[in-house]
Amino acid sequence: MPGELTPNALVTLRARYLRKNQRGEVVENPEQLFRRVARAVAAAEKAFGGSGAAAEAEELFFEDMAALRFLPNSPTLMNAGTEMGQLAACFVLPVADSLPEIFNSVRDAALIHQSGGGTGFSFSRLRPAGDRVKSTMGISSGPVSFMRVFDAATEAIKQGGTRRGANMGILRVDHPDILDFITAKDREGELANFNISVAISDGFMAALNRGGSYPLVNPRDGEVVREQDAGEVFRTIAAHAWQNGEPGVVFIDRVNASHPARHLGEIEATNPCGEQPLLPWEACNLGSLNLLRFADRQGVIDFPQLGEGVARAIRFLDDVVEVNRYPLPAIAEMTRKTRKLGLGVMGFADLLILRGIPYGSEAALRAADELMGFLRRESLAASRRLAQERGPYPGFAGSPGQRAGEAPQRNATLNTVAPTGTLSLIAGVSSGIEPVFAFAYQRHVLGTVLEEVHPLYERRRRLGEPIDPRVFVTARQISPEWHVRMQAVFQEHVDNAVSKTINFPAEAPVEEVENAFLQAYQLGCKGLTVYRDRSRRQQVLNVCDSK
Ligand code: UDP
Repeated sequence: MPGELTPNALVTLRARYLRKNQRGEVVENPEQLFRRVARAVAAAEKAFGGSGAAAEAEELFFEDMAALRFLPNSPTLMNAGTEMGQLAACFVLPVADSLPEIFNSVRDAALIHQSGGGTGFSFSRLRPAGDRVKSTMGISSGPVSFMRVFDAATEAIKQGGTRRGANMGILRVDHPDILDFITAKDREGELANFNISVAISDGFMAALNRGGSYPLVNPRDGEVVREQDAGEVFRTIAAHAWQNGEPGVVFIDRVNASHPARHLGEIEATNPCGEQPLLPWEACNLGSLNLLRFADRQGVIDFPQLGEGVARAIRFLDDVVEVNRYPLPAIAEMTRKTRKLGLGVMGFADLLILRGIPYGSEAALRAADELMGFLRRESLAASRRLAQERGPYPGFAGSPGQRAGEAPQRNATLNTVAPTGTLSLIAGVSSGIEPVFAFAYQRHVLGTVLEEVHPLYERRRRLGEPIDPRVFVTARQISPEWHVRMQAVFQEHVDNAVSKTINFPAEAPVEEVENAFLQAYQLGCKGLTVYRDRSRRQQVLNVCDSK
């Protein structure tokens, strides 16, 4: 019940989620927030089962949120039942190679940011810097300079009046401007509203493997501009990621090869944090189950309960697709065609601590495999049941799944592991599948400093119980190899992707970053994000006492 919210959760809810009147006074309590969201989302069911079904769903959804068993992504919590009504966190917009189209995308992104969503873009279709522009007989300034326009527009708009917009900028590794792109964030403050990621092709990985080169291609006409040494580009990516965490990489051919709706088009980009690859114009709403609410004090999961929780969450997220007010007609059309969902988890590291399992261990990988495998199967079963009741997603016709004779699904994709940056704060558990960052620290959010001591750590200290340092392990104490292996195990059971940061100690050599990228590719990850301790001047979290 809302009574269990931590003081920090309440601060966060008041600052951003609870409704305010025109004078900026909070006019809603947490229980009313969950009621507002449950009612607005359950209203979708009137179309399927009449008002009885909607009333039943409202109660189920309310109970799940109020008990902090399940939370939908922030825009749903903020906007459901309001005039705005935009509920999805993740969007991808196309960027085409003409001035009017580029500025249309800037405008569309602004509308999405205003509604609380984050946007991803591939800039790979833009002709390179220095290339000719026919209409003006001039020369193009290239993808990186246009990214600055998006960045400036983002800077000016606060998302839903509460947070700044977030962007993902992606460039294919075979774009002629790739080296400029990799170094685009070298100066601190440059492209501050962007995460950047290089779309790496299988062809590039093959060239890297044989120590050879690969062609850089002008997207305007498909002409090969020059041959580029793959090793040089790879080492530049790793060196920059080592330096300040960017760029990340996305293995774009793997993303497309495993995309269940690949008959509808090519995926070129992901949402801002990388866990949600999407087609151009597609949006996706996410939600996360709080694993601790399905476990006992020893961290043993009640699987039947979890299975039911999964089914309700899938039903909730599918209802969101129905009632969501999309910011643009093209987005409404595309999103309703695939009806993608992203159900994931939070509190995984806390669960391991309860069980006494070190995060970087074979036992932890087995726990992840069992848990996410179960979640995957239950999600699929739930979406198939919904397809029988409500019909399959319209894009199912002609999909590889349909042609292979698989049972129809209501949703093209079902699972995503989100960062749960604020959701985990509200639920009071470790974020996503990340290890605990520190057991006592100050968190700088919303202009204030929140003091946090990990609840399981605090409890042991209070009871005078011993702290097992193998189990109470922080992200920086876990080797990069274990981080990547954990990401890979979750990825195996996730049809979208996994938000995960591979942490390195400050003194790690750059070769370790190179190895992590190679390992991620070998183990089947869809991308990778690294962070070396103290490599950015501004860190959101400042450890004051990690042990
Ligand atoms: N997101 C965003 N702005 C933010 C934080 C998140 O647009 O300030 C979007 C982005 O697409 C991200 C997704 O929300 O990948 C999920 O992030 P997270 O799970 O941290 O969001 P939460 O629901 O916890 O706020």
